[in-house]
Amino acid sequence: MMHTRTLIRSALMSALLASAGLALAPMEMAHAAAPMVKTSAPGYYRVMLGDFEVTALSDGTVDLPVDKLLMNTTPAAVDKALAASFEKSPLETSFNAYLVNTGSKLVLIDTGAGALFGPTVGKLMASLKASGYQPEQVDEIVITHMHPDHVGGLTHDGKIAFPNAVVRADQRDADYWLSKANLDKAADADKGFFQGAMASINPYVASGQFKPFKGDTEIVPGIRAVSTVGHTPGHASYVVQSKGQKLVIWGDLVHVQAVQFDNPSVTIHFDSNPKQAEAERKAEFSKAAKEGYLVAGAHIAFPGLGHVRAKGAAYEWVPVNYTTIR
Ligand SMILES: [Zn+2]
Repeated sequence: MMHTRTLIRSALMSALLASAGLALAPMEMAHAAAPMVKTSAPGYYRVMLGDFEVTALSDGTVDLPVDKLLMNTTPAAVDKALAASFEKSPLETSFNAYLVNTGSKLVLIDTGAGALFGPTVGKLMASLKASGYQPEQVDEIVITHMHPDHVGGLTHDGKIAFPNAVVRADQRDADYWLSKANLDKAADADKGFFQGAMASINPYVASGQFKPFKGDTEIVPGIRAVSTVGHTPGHASYVVQSKGQKLVIWGDLVHVQAVQFDNPSVTIHFDSNPKQAEAERKAEFSKAAKEGYLVAGAHIAFPGLGHVRAKGAAYEWVPVNYTTIR
């Protein structure tokens, strides 16, 4: 039997709740639906490579009509390969860049699209800051090639975005994409590629911060450029090595993971020289599978880090195991 005082307290509580409009099921009211947050995790992912710290930086994603862009195949074959990976065209495609801290130098590999590729990308600077760095700290920026989704982040509102960085890229890409003559003779649909490269690189040329290299070249101790031409005339990949560990930052040797590992003969509309691009892809897949080193792809699902495994005459992509820095 309830004590009289308890009954009075209970009646008082009911009256208070009623006056507040909360007479019914007060506990349920307290658990009203939470509004959805609808943001993603910060766009960076960090691993150690020997003594080096490697940070994958997301520039965002773009939905690409890959069934139309991939060549040396058919739309039906592309759709089938995508379906086997539970994907479809247009395919939400990652735009990735990489930041390597060697302990003495901070090196950024590619810069994302900046303002050149629409509102769903151009987030590299936000990702860089979220990852704990500032643009002023970057010593070297190495570019895999001068397509807009790799150089656009070099500038912001037409101004240099990395004031203390030396920008490096293969001389052959500079000669091709920064040429006024090539811009003039390009088809209208292709002029944007040249204009994007010029708008991004030329401010660094003007300030004396652009220093192109020719072919395989050491950038800083532990990071060297290796020539992987085909996708563009001066496409370069970057080999990062510390304490016997090795990472090869590919750039655009692969665009569609679900298609091109299984069939490395598949090329993409944007390849300057598709035959050469195909040969480079096959050579790099073979080497990566044989040697077992870590690989990074600019358009492989973020963070784009993983290994290549041989599968008969073809290959498989094996994404990295999740890691936390300890
Ligand atoms: Zn690209």
